[in-house]
Amino acid sequence: MTSTNQATEARSDYAEAGGEPCVYLSFDDGPNPLCTPAILDVLAQHRTPATFCVIGAYAAGQPQLIQRIVAEGHEIANHTMTHPDLSKCMPDEVEYEILTTNKVIGMACPGASVRHMRAPYGIWTREALAASAKAELAPLHWSVDPQDWSRPGSEAIVAAVLASVRPGAIVLLHDGCPPDELARCPHAGRRDQTVTALAQLIPALHDHGFAIRSLPQPH
Ligand SMILES: [Zn+2]
Repeated sequence: MTSTNQATEARSDYAEAGGEPCVYLSFDDGPNPLCTPAILDVLAQHRTPATFCVIGAYAAGQPQLIQRIVAEGHEIANHTMTHPDLSKCMPDEVEYEILTTNKVIGMACPGASVRHMRAPYGIWTREALAASAKAELAPLHWSVDPQDWSRPGSEAIVAAVLASVRPGAIVLLHDGCPPDELARCPHAGRRDQTVTALAQLIPALHDHGFAIRSLPQPH
């Protein structure tokens, strides 16, 4: 067990990708029956792809949402079964968290191709990277974090993204809430500000010259 943050080994952008300036959207901590459909509706209206980093315990109970995410051209990524701080887990727990999530996603949607793992809280450990490699998952971090989960207001979310976005940026947003935070505060999972912000953010990114793309193939 190590608490060393190995974030440098996880991909936080694709700044080296050539061609038109691209941005990649990611949504963590779903699928959530109250929030994810609204996010998917906005993405569909704008024909915009995204990556959903799902919690396995939620995915197991929401197979239709996993199927809808995949059917609408988005990517599913592994965000562990129960969203623990992996630096506080034993190595066998880390493996369980990551490998079981892949199984759950596969059961919910057999056609889903899972290529990435995002560590809860962005806390990467050697064990997390090793278990991801064993599951053939590329570690996925982010470079733009507007802290939408803290409900700063939709305009603040849009402004924070536009202030720090660069070509190749991976933007972190949320379509759900980890189980422990939901237990502490039932309102913690409300993502209406994220939905409103997304509807403004997609055209704003286009106005700034960015294309919004699916994540490139990991190497
Ligand atoms: Zn998370």
